[in-house]
Amino acid sequence: MAEFARLVTLARRLEASPLRLEKLALVAEFLRGLPPDDVPTAVAFLTGRAFPASDPRALGVRGLPAAEGVAGGPPLTFAAVAEAFAAVAEARGSGARRAREAELRRLVARASLDEYQILGRIVGGEMRTGVSDGLVLEAIAQAAGVPAAAARRAALLLGDLSAVAVLALRGGAEALAATAARPGVPLRPMLAEITGGVEEALAAHGGRTALEYKYDGARIQLHHDGDRVSLWTRRLSEVTRSLPDVVALARELSGVPFILDGEVVALDPAGRPLPFQELMRRFRRTHEVEALVGEIPLAVHFFDCLMAGGRSLIEEPYERRWEALAALTGGRHLAERLVVTDMDAARAFYARALAAGHEGVMAKDLRSPYEPGGRGKRWLKLKAAATVDCVIVAADRGSGRRRGWLSNYHLAVRDGEGFAEVGKTFKGLTDAQFAAMTSRLWALATADDGYTVRVRPEVVVEVAYNEIQKSPTYPSGVALRFARITRIRDDKGPGQATALTELAALYERQFATKGRAV
Ligand code: AMP
Repeated sequence: MAEFARLVTLARRLEASPLRLEKLALVAEFLRGLPPDDVPTAVAFLTGRAFPASDPRALGVRGLPAAEGVAGGPPLTFAAVAEAFAAVAEARGSGARRAREAELRRLVARASLDEYQILGRIVGGEMRTGVSDGLVLEAIAQAAGVPAAAARRAALLLGDLSAVAVLALRGGAEALAATAARPGVPLRPMLAEITGGVEEALAAHGGRTALEYKYDGARIQLHHDGDRVSLWTRRLSEVTRSLPDVVALARELSGVPFILDGEVVALDPAGRPLPFQELMRRFRRTHEVEALVGEIPLAVHFFDCLMAGGRSLIEEPYERRWEALAALTGGRHLAERLVVTDMDAARAFYARALAAGHEGVMAKDLRSPYEPGGRGKRWLKLKAAATVDCVIVAADRGSGRRRGWLSNYHLAVRDGEGFAEVGKTFKGLTDAQFAAMTSRLWALATADDGYTVRVRPEVVVEVAYNEIQKSPTYPSGVALRFARITRIRDDKGPGQATALTELAALYERQFATKGRAV
């Protein structure tokens, strides 16, 4: 059983070494030295998580109680901290809050000042050592002496660095290569890049592409292991309990065990799509679900099949996966789709998608494998309205009518492993949303100069704009003109925000496509 102090020492060294290579070596050395039983916990802590990513438990607390006095007793171990966290997460019922606090107080009483600080960071969800999940993954590969690509592949399939570390350190490259998709273990969804028009999509896909309606709902991954059905969001949270209607639908399909990928849309009684917020109500509800099932029925549109009859199809071309999907569903609940080779058919399909009220189309390369977590030209999205997904990185205090709220949001896009600001907006939210956003951002605050509050980049918002401009003020070099929030994307994480490279490409395209319909 290793002492928790090892993590403290590592964290201090990481803080002191600005070089990525140095950090990598430090983390690899730390992992190599751990007893195998401590690996999952230590990897979770190192990445600012109280539990491994595939563990659904959450602490449900905002921070640690104040430290009182100096630690006593035997030194803290990883196992002891994990045990305390488990007790906190599992506290239930009316006395749960008090039980959690008591448990944390007992933990804090055993910690040194340094340990207290590091525990606080784990509870707060951020280690602040400048170590990303990507770096930890590389360090795992280095510690286990396996190629980084093997570790990366396993991470995409398992969605959990702790599990990858255990496999790599125990079984090496062979164990990593043997990882396969498993029903019940969600995979990161494949993502799409923005494209300017169907010409580009056709060219990128070698003159033949599968166009599909782009439904304006939420991504859903459906697993059936032959017995148990489970449903996962884009961020890999489980929503099985909230969607019994989709579970029932899954039980009618053949070809178990299977894993399907699709989009759910909320409908009004007349069958028209409802706003995204209504759909999110369905996702969040975990008790008295049946009432809401009647009030907000769902439509599911499947578009991919990652496993059928227990066989993984991830490496098969999209064309094959679609055939499997069609067979398994009997052709029902599928995304509207057309394989096109010429521009006229493509334009007509795009026009049909918009006329039917959808936000655009997806264009998919029929030859492409499913790349969990991958974003590239194999899947392209083409939307009628110009929107991008930004992360809120700071907010200004409101004045006048907005006094008391954090109401002017600094918007950023992904830039490498960090974020680059591209605009600000106070437009688009209702009063209730401003109030809710204010408390949400305060909980993420990292600095406050009395006017602007910097926050941890976690909240993703969809932003509409009139134009992308070159900007002399933002280091990113570009800015969104007339930015306004069109919705809060609770289903997206910061890693799924638009990238600066995509924004730069959109900037270029403005000149190329201005005045053209598609
Ligand atoms: P965006 O959220 O703008 O990045 O667009 C990608 C998202 O569109 C996916 O993650 C899905 O949630 C959604 N989507 C809607 N229809 C489709 C479709 N036919 N194929 C793939 N994704 C779709």
